[in-house]
Amino acid sequence: MAVSDHVDLATFIEGVKRRNPGQPEFAQAVQEVAEDIFDFIRDKEQYHKYQILRRIAEPDRVISFRVCWEDDKGNIRVQRGWRVQNNNAIGPYKGGIRFHPSVTESVLKFLAFEQTFKNALTGLPMGGGKGGANFNPKGKSDNEVMRFCQSFMNELYRHIGADVDVPAGDIGVGAREIGYMFGQYKRLTNEFTGVLTGKGLEYGGSLIRTEATGYGATYFMQNMLATQKDEIKGKKAVISGSGNVATHAAEKVTQLGGKVLTLSDSEGFIYDPDGIDQTKINWVKDLKNKRRGRISEYVKEFTGAEFHVGKTPWSVPCELALPCATQNELTGDDARTLVGNGCIAVSEGANMPTTLEGVHVFKDAQILFAPGKAANAGGVSVSGLEMSQNSARISWKEEELQRLLVDIMAGIHASCVEYGGRPGSKVTDYVRGANIAGFKKVADAMLAFGVV
Ligand code: GLU
Repeated sequence: MAVSDHVDLATFIEGVKRRNPGQPEFAQAVQEVAEDIFDFIRDKEQYHKYQILRRIAEPDRVISFRVCWEDDKGNIRVQRGWRVQNNNAIGPYKGGIRFHPSVTESVLKFLAFEQTFKNALTGLPMGGGKGGANFNPKGKSDNEVMRFCQSFMNELYRHIGADVDVPAGDIGVGAREIGYMFGQYKRLTNEFTGVLTGKGLEYGGSLIRTEATGYGATYFMQNMLATQKDEIKGKKAVISGSGNVATHAAEKVTQLGGKVLTLSDSEGFIYDPDGIDQTKINWVKDLKNKRRGRISEYVKEFTGAEFHVGKTPWSVPCELALPCATQNELTGDDARTLVGNGCIAVSEGANMPTTLEGVHVFKDAQILFAPGKAANAGGVSVSGLEMSQNSARISWKEEELQRLLVDIMAGIHASCVEYGGRPGSKVTDYVRGANIAGFKKVADAMLAFGVV
């Protein structure tokens, strides 16, 4: 047996930090997974011998490139773009593209790492990847966004393909950006293939892809509550974010009889004591997608509501919380406040919205806590179904897709329950369950391939 086979958790994390200097988000994501996996593989020699966790935590490749574009005033602008191809043991690399000023290599490496486990949990044949750029689409004209997307694709196109790597949307990348990128890919390659998901319905997109992440996170919440013979109906929900994930989570919570009290963006949160019903949700969707406005405008339209500038919504008393904005938006203190105020269930619509300290608070309190890699997998699941439809050159009906989404989320929940048992507790440790179930599938495929 090699000397390095049985390092302890602390030494392993130390090594991850040393090999990835200045990449705190990546180290955080690896640590959250390693805490559970080290325990799981303690008596499983093969995983040690073949250094499986160490290999999953080293991306297959990180592609970094310059993206030049011209703004409306004729200035030449230079941004950095990336594609992180983390692992393709169980299928082509798959994961979104994020355009946001906070994007760094560390952020994309954490997202690609998380995506590897998330995609494995869906049961569909997809590996893990992620990409993006430190480009801020806010305040840019349509033409500027188009020029940026085209320039981004001028490099990305040579690294992706329907059987190689299939990007999609994420923060700052929605239907408009996917359209521009798909158009440029098609122009460069002269090929019409399912190389991107989240496409418009007219050119190969799938029904319910837009709704899938938010709906899926709510189904996961529903599944968790059902284990305690409880339900969403009649409960107050606090949701952060106001984009695609947040608005569709709000929609599904409302449909299931819950009352949504908050939404937010980077400037603050709105609290509506009357509840954010479907009419108000439709207004927010329109504000965000068509007018590209800010959530603070809500209180001018709906006068019973308050806007809390510069704050996150976690101090609002609720039974259910759905963080649907971005990474590390819910701290240890926020988690303590939520638990103190009687919150019984948290379903992460965003990727890693809870800090490591916050995760430990929820785990220790033994409330129902679903990590993003399980709870927000509905989006990439319907992306996987979009890939199948593209390959078969057919489009499935909405009812069929809605049913598949419900089934896939129930399947992920069942996998978490299978591996997330806690001795002496009837509350599943969903973090542990998701980490182990996702890891096991990828790890077993990697073992089959030998050392490659
Ligand atoms: N960006 C989404 C996620 O974090 C979706 C990725 C996809 O559809 O490929 O899972």
